[in-house]
Amino acid sequence: MSAIKPARITKVLSDSIAAEIGFEAGDAIVSINGTPPRDLIDYRFLCADEILELEVLDANGKTHSFEIEKDYDEDLGLEFESALFDNLIQCNNKCPFCFIDQQPPGKRQSLYYKDDDYRLSFLYGSYLTLTNLTAREWQRIEAMRLSPLFVSVHATEPDVRIKLLKNPRAGEILDQIKWFQERRLQIHAQVVVCPGINDGKHLEQTIRDLASFYTSDVPAVASIAVVPVGLTRFRPTVDELIPVTPEKASEVISQVKSLQKEFREKLGSTVVWLADEWFLIAGEELPCEVEYEDYPQIDNGVGSIRLFLKEFATTAKKLLPAKVKPRKFTWVVGNAVEKAFQPILQQLNSVDGLQVNMQALSSQYWGQNISVTGLLTGYDLLSKLQCIDLGDGILLPSVMLKHGELVFLDDISVEEVAHKLNTKIFPVTGVNELISTCIN
Ligand code: SF4
Repeated sequence: MSAIKPARITKVLSDSIAAEIGFEAGDAIVSINGTPPRDLIDYRFLCADEILELEVLDANGKTHSFEIEKDYDEDLGLEFESALFDNLIQCNNKCPFCFIDQQPPGKRQSLYYKDDDYRLSFLYGSYLTLTNLTAREWQRIEAMRLSPLFVSVHATEPDVRIKLLKNPRAGEILDQIKWFQERRLQIHAQVVVCPGINDGKHLEQTIRDLASFYTSDVPAVASIAVVPVGLTRFRPTVDELIPVTPEKASEVISQVKSLQKEFREKLGSTVVWLADEWFLIAGEELPCEVEYEDYPQIDNGVGSIRLFLKEFATTAKKLLPAKVKPRKFTWVVGNAVEKAFQPILQQLNSVDGLQVNMQALSSQYWGQNISVTGLLTGYDLLSKLQCIDLGDGILLPSVMLKHGELVFLDDISVEEVAHKLNTKIFPVTGVNELISTCIN
């Protein structure tokens, strides 16, 4: 196990226990009741107590001890610079479709880190492959009931998965899912479809194998997301990957739709869902709202457009006024959603005084003709929005930014883009923020 470092505090919430005691950003927690927390999971577990003895290192390197009495479920009110207080568990695979390897060269080192860490999966829903877990980590998953985890399965046939992940340990996936099943733990599975490798009969086999775990009141496989492989212009010139064409997208849609129908009849749930991108690539209608059930893989782009449209319709009814003081915004989105978001655009523009122009961009940075919003970069905005009347500013969907930072995927900051385009940028998360930024 890698060395545990004191957990550096970045924010002390006002009116919290920590604020009352006098914690400050820059302090670091060394131990709680004698145990150094390894990560946020340990921290939360150790804090679920009525009496805490904290050893804390201040910014000057001086150690302090505190005893705190609280309700066992009361939060201390601290935020940390990272969720992990030891090292990230690194990936040991060599997937040819890895997005990290498809980044341009010469960027900040952290852009090239390949994590495959079950803790980030449990905390934030990132996908892991289960190929690098030691016996100790498996025991911890079981003991702490770290469920659900989000698992990149890609293929259940050992030879196909080994070929995709370029790792001989990748062939154990079905036994590993059985391990979850025996302990009543759950996973959400993801299948990235690479045409010519894990599509066709392999995809069918994978989905059927995974759906066979959709049993009991706690299905070991709670949902399956099928996602098209994403390729950029920075991948090696010779590789085994074939881009997803509209014809391939239509083929996968009809293949998965027929399995969905079968599962709904036999299992009472759709079980497997297609990422929105398939429909955008194929130019087909998105499924209707009810088909997504409780949107189990929304953060994987499964149903996110449908949910956004639904939430907009509901929120607009409540929040959109008939009239506002004259104002004009530019709403930047990926060109993949240009058509789907027209009803939203029309409704915003029906407010007297409000003018919203959509700029639906593709990503020149990644070398794509069709792009989803989340992949647009600072470079794309700078290259496409010069010399355009941007009005009072840009409405920027925050999915374009790195988690918790005002920085695009290409490491360009929002501030730099705003400065170079000589405009204001309003990052907006979700429907409420989109509407309130437009009207307030
Ligand atoms: S498991 Fe993920 S991070 Fe690792 S090589 Fe494959 S795609 Fe890249």
